[in-house]
This record gives sequence, C-alpha cells and structure tokens, in this order.
Amino acid sequence: MFHEASNKLSAVYLAIIMAISIFFSANIYQVSVAEFNRDYARQQSLLDRSQVLPPSQDAVNRFLAARQQQYAEAKDRILVRLIIINCAIFVSGGLLSYYFARRTLQPIEEAHEALERFTADASHELRTPITVMQTEIEVALSDPDLTVTEAREQLESNLEELAKLTQLSEGLLRLAQLDKNSMTQTKSKIAPIITAAVEHLQPLADKKNISIDHSPNVDAQIQANQSSLSEALIIIIENAIKYSPEGSFVRIQAKKEGQKVTISVIDHGSGIKKSEQAHIFDRFYRSDKARTKQSTPGYGLGLSIAKNIVELHHGTISVESKLHKGSTFKVSLPLN
Ligand code: ADP
Repeated sequence: MFHEASNKLSAVYLAIIMAISIFFSANIYQVSVAEFNRDYARQQSLLDRSQVLPPSQDAVNRFLAARQQQYAEAKDRILVRLIIINCAIFVSGGLLSYYFARRTLQPIEEAHEALERFTADASHELRTPITVMQTEIEVALSDPDLTVTEAREQLESNLEELAKLTQLSEGLLRLAQLDKNSMTQTKSKIAPIITAAVEHLQPLADKKNISIDHSPNVDAQIQANQSSLSEALIIIIENAIKYSPEGSFVRIQAKKEGQKVTISVIDHGSGIKKSEQAHIFDRFYRSDKARTKQSTPGYGLGLSIAKNIVELHHGTISVESKLHKGSTFKVSLPLN
C-alpha cells in the first residue's frame, strides 16, 4: 500500500518539477528566438537603409542568407540543449522525487505499523483470558457429575480472568485517552503528589514486607494534573514493589536540579537487562522474565501510560538498571 502511495506521490512531485522545467525552457527558447529575429531584422533594415548598389546587393543577400542559416543553427542548438537538460532533470528529478516521497510517507508508515502491532498485541492479550474462560466453561458443562464446589471453583477462576480483562481494557482505554493529548494542569506542589502515591501503595508494600523510604521535603512547584501525575508515580512505585524481593526496601527521592525537579524511585529488585531497557516503555512490552513468571501480573502497559503522562507534563522518564541488582526510574519535570 505504501509502496504504491510512494510511487504516486513521486509521480506528482516529478510532474510538478517537469511542469516548472518545461515552462522555463519554453520561455528561454522563445526569448532566444525573439532575440535572434530582432537582431536579424535590425541588420536587414541597416543594410536596406545603406542603399547598396545592385552589384553589391548580391553580396548583401548572401550575407543575410548566411546570417539566417547561423540563427537557424543556433536555435536548433538551443532546442537540443534544452531537451537534454530536461531529460537530465527528468531522471534526477525522478530519483529525488522518489527519495522525498519515501521521506514524506515514512512517519505515516511507521505510525501505521505501530497501530497494526498495537491492534495485534491487544487482540492477542484479549484472546488469552477469553479462551481460558471458554475452555473452563466447556469442560465444566460437559461434566455430568459436576459438584457445586467444583462449579464454584470454576466461577472463581472465571472471575479472575474477568478481572484481568477489566484491567486490560482499562489500560487500553487510558492509553486512548492520553493519546488525545489534553490534560488540565494547575500549579501544584510535588511533595503531596508523591505522598499520595506512596500512601496508595503502602498496603501492597506491607503485603511483601517492603519498606518505602520517602521523606517528602522537597519544596518544588510544577504545572501538573495531580491525579494523572500521581497515577504515573503509582505505576513506577508499584513496579518497584512488584519486581523486588520480600523484605527489601524502595527509596523515593525528589531533588531540584536547575529548572527541573527529578523524582527517583530506587529499588533493589530483579533489575532489567540492558537489551530490554530500551523497550520497557513500549506498549505491551514485558521482559521475558515478567512474561513467564505467573506471579507477576501485568500487561506491559503501565510504563507506556506513565511515559505518556510524564510527556504530557513536558517531562522525561528514564531508567538505569543492573540485572539482579536493582533499578532506578527517574522522572524529571520542569519547575513552574
Ligand atoms: P507490567 O509491569 O505490567 O509488565 P510495565 O509497562 O509496567 O508492565 O513494565 C514493563 C516491563 O518492564 C515489565 O514487564 C518488567 O519486565 C520491566 N520493569 C518495569 N519496572 C521494573 C522494575 N522496577 N524492576 C524490574 N523490571 C521492571
């Protein structure tokens, strides 16, 4: 599809280039011909006015004929040159047109590919819990001796799969909302936003006996949508808890650095392989470890939601990590 579009676009570019080139060539040719004709007419009238006698008239006529011949040859030469130049413009313009057509369409092609990948990933992730539920229900229905206890277990399992579907559709919905690029922001202090995120996750940390080391003493004001920014921090801190061993600790620091404030979330968990670090902010990306480990739930949407939110605040998000040592996620936001 994009190959065909590139060809069509290059044809349009080439048609424009050739139209301009032919227009100027025709004008150059016309101006040159007019100049030759004027020059010839001037010479003829000069000779007419000089009243040449009959014996010399022949020489004059021969001179004028030779002049006319020279002009005709010059006109032909100009015409041939203009044709050669236009052919060269056609070839080089064709190549350039194709190059620029590809460049014009490349971002659209990339966005299209990303959308296709996203749709394929989303359908795959949606299909898994649905298939699990369908199989479980079919097996249960085909069992004539199904007891109430077994039926209850089935329903509980179905409920778990439904919870996963809900989580996934909420993630997808959130990404779609963030793609619209609008978010009301007000002047806000950063410390209470961090505190709110930490308080939200305290029960999860307690469950894994993980302590969160956080002293909200930074005095920084930013332009923020508080609930969204808190949501981004919750995703990052929740990951720090999720991917850390029981009994460890997570440290949260906030520091002013020039015209920005940087929030660091430091954990001592599983860490992320160097080769995977570039991808963890992509939609649906989960490390092989997280994917295979059934105990770590998720769909790989969290960090891409967090990144979108941070970017809507004109900030940046980055990671430094060492496998089996831990990770540090940094969110930098411009000060108000
Ligand atoms: P999810 O956690 O649902 O898989 P995310 O988008 O939040 O999705 O994270 C993407 C991947 O990045 C995770 O699957 C995990 O492999 C890796 N990751 C994120 N945060 C951490 C962390 N603090 N420690 C180790 N790995 C992490």
